Amino acid sequence: MKNIAILGSTGSIGKNALEVVRRFPGEFRVVAISANSNIDLLSRQMREFHPKLVCVIDRAASLALRSKAGRGVRVLSEEAGLLELCRDKRVDTVLVSISGSQALLPLVTAIQHGKDIALANKEALVMAGSIIMELAARKNVRIIPIDSEQSAIWQCLEGEDKSRLRKIYLTASGGPFRKTKAKDLKNISVEKVLRHPRWKMGRKITVDSATLMNKGLELLEAMFLFDVPADKIKVLVHPEAVIHSMVEFVDGVVMAQLSATDMRIPIQYALSWPRRLEHSAQYLDFARLRALHFEEPNFKKFPCLGLAYRAAREMGTYPAVLNAANEVCVEEFLKRNLGFTSIPKVVERVLDKHRFIKKPDLEGIQEADSWARRSAYRLITRMD
Ligand code: MG
Repeated sequence: MKNIAILGSTGSIGKNALEVVRRFPGEFRVVAISANSNIDLLSRQMREFHPKLVCVIDRAASLALRSKAGRGVRVLSEEAGLLELCRDKRVDTVLVSISGSQALLPLVTAIQHGKDIALANKEALVMAGSIIMELAARKNVRIIPIDSEQSAIWQCLEGEDKSRLRKIYLTASGGPFRKTKAKDLKNISVEKVLRHPRWKMGRKITVDSATLMNKGLELLEAMFLFDVPADKIKVLVHPEAVIHSMVEFVDGVVMAQLSATDMRIPIQYALSWPRRLEHSAQYLDFARLRALHFEEPNFKKFPCLGLAYRAAREMGTYPAVLNAANEVCVEEFLKRNLGFTSIPKVVERVLDKHRFIKKPDLEGIQEADSWARRSAYRLITRMD
């Protein structure tokens, strides 16, 4: 029996993770869950899964939940509560599915306390990948990715000699605007961006998918997870999203991982690894698929991808700065304070202005992160 903590249990990945747990009651037990403020769903999850620890980031909401919680449940709040949950002795694996940079400290805390990690958040790794991977190695902690592309690469590399790897093909659906003309992107609405053709996901990642920054963040994520330089990772647009990524070895052999576009598949594998459990959701039907298509990504139409490659080649504090500037741009875009095509413009100006540190510690990364946020806000307010 594996005891799991789910950070972000009311989000899209969190809910899917609970469905996986529901399918295998003899394999996994939920001992802790957390959410920002959605206590209605959280209390339903508490009634079904009986976790020992619950954390609500919003303090007022946590007090409201505390009055409803039954005996034997501790309700914690704010970031301190979340960190306490990550340290708890009863937890074996922490599934990190909160979005954005707020996952960084919980993730580091969980690793410091020897918890295995099932990682759905990409921003923390993008910000502090070298520090996180070094710490995980020192603590003998495994970080198993949930992101479908990273899960695919992880599966293709299993049992292989990594020094024989020639290239990683990081596949991308191309987002909702693959066929939209560049000139029509300028006035694209928030509603249009939030309608993604393949995956139903949270708002931040849906906007990132539309700008292709999501693929850029995945490029950085893959570099850290698999210790591969940027020039060995090639982004390939594959609209059907059936191949979740591929690896090519020096002898010309390519291994690909294929499955239905269902997030429960990589979530389940991250929790059950190295075993495969039988599930009844969806199996691929190749005769119905008929064809798979591939094309080069359009760097001109989607400058965010090129900016991510730039940060990936420079490293140091650049990835953290890219990520922070992008987080601010996405928030401001969702508030209708920034146009869709201005997102890469602001991120680029922030990268240009940044005085980078080659080998930052966690504090240096957090400083670069706050500097980039301030700097992006300033640029955005000056724009209107
Ligand atoms: Mg992905």
